[in-house]
Amino acid sequence: MLNEKFILGDIEIPRGVNMTVNLELPKMYNTPTHLPVRVIRGKKDGPVVFISAAIHGDELNGIEIIRRFRMLSILKRLKGTVILVPIVNVYGIMTLSRYLPDRRDLNRSFPGNKKGSLAGRVARIFFDEIVSKCDLGIDLHTGAIHRSNLPQVRTNIENEYTFNLAKVFGAPVVLHSEIRDGSLRAVAQEEGVPILLYEAGEALRFDETSIRIGVHGIVNVLREINMLPKVSRKKPAKVPVITKISQWVRASESGMLRTIKALGDTVQKDEVIAFIDEPLDDVSFEIKALFDGIIIGKSEIPLVQAGDAIFHIARFGDLETAEHKIGYFSEDAIEESEFHELNREDSIE
Ligand SMILES: [Zn+2]
Repeated sequence: MLNEKFILGDIEIPRGVNMTVNLELPKMYNTPTHLPVRVIRGKKDGPVVFISAAIHGDELNGIEIIRRFRMLSILKRLKGTVILVPIVNVYGIMTLSRYLPDRRDLNRSFPGNKKGSLAGRVARIFFDEIVSKCDLGIDLHTGAIHRSNLPQVRTNIENEYTFNLAKVFGAPVVLHSEIRDGSLRAVAQEEGVPILLYEAGEALRFDETSIRIGVHGIVNVLREINMLPKVSRKKPAKVPVITKISQWVRASESGMLRTIKALGDTVQKDEVIAFIDEPLDDVSFEIKALFDGIIIGKSEIPLVQAGDAIFHIARFGDLETAEHKIGYFSEDAIEESEFHELNREDSIE
């Protein structure tokens, strides 16, 4: 979209301006509530892209990704418009909750309804004011509470445009994912706004590697669509592990969980990846991998009930290649960044 005029709320934002707009949300009892949005408009025209985080109010890595991205001096050379929404679920974050106070999941409430539930009303405002004005969206998530994710981009890999951007992002894994009813991605795509979903780390925690890959990923995507200047690469572009099938391994029993594999590890079919123990019993139950693949998600709580999800495994046959790829993506992420703003003391141990 080549926007001569860009209007958010009732405010017109001229080219070359970087400003925060507070969109009005339903009040919390008598307290006025707003959705803070930062709009960065380049001096030259170009696409309009939104970057959102904390649609689930306990998923925090994306908030830090957006904070660091916003500081990059390369944004002075931006063409087009970037809309940053670091905390979409402003209600959930106050109670460290994934959900809204009406106990609904915002990411199942799109496109929303002005006269609907609280979640529906927030979804509608976010959709009408932001999503519908964009050419592309990058939505930042983490694992749910007590679960961590290896940095991964989820998208429809049958769509050439989003598949290319998912690879360019530079996370170690690209996972094909079907859309879910009421999710931002499903509804936005129906309206012609492609979405990349970045999933990395754990709810209620910061993870430095996930944050760094996220910041660079956004820059890589904006370079690819010519919103930021391209760099001449010395090394050939890296290709992530691309996988279509993934499945959660579930607990066969209830008890204490002892995992012996980490995120990013490769596993072979039937390899033992965890044990479930009982404190006063000598018997341990083995948990085995369902197929050859990579661990892309993991429970972080050592207590399970039968049926609980323990490991999320992405199927990938060539384990040697997978190991190599996961290794170099993660090492690069923690090396020196090309952006001096990101090399200050604000990295998180
Ligand atoms: Zn989420």
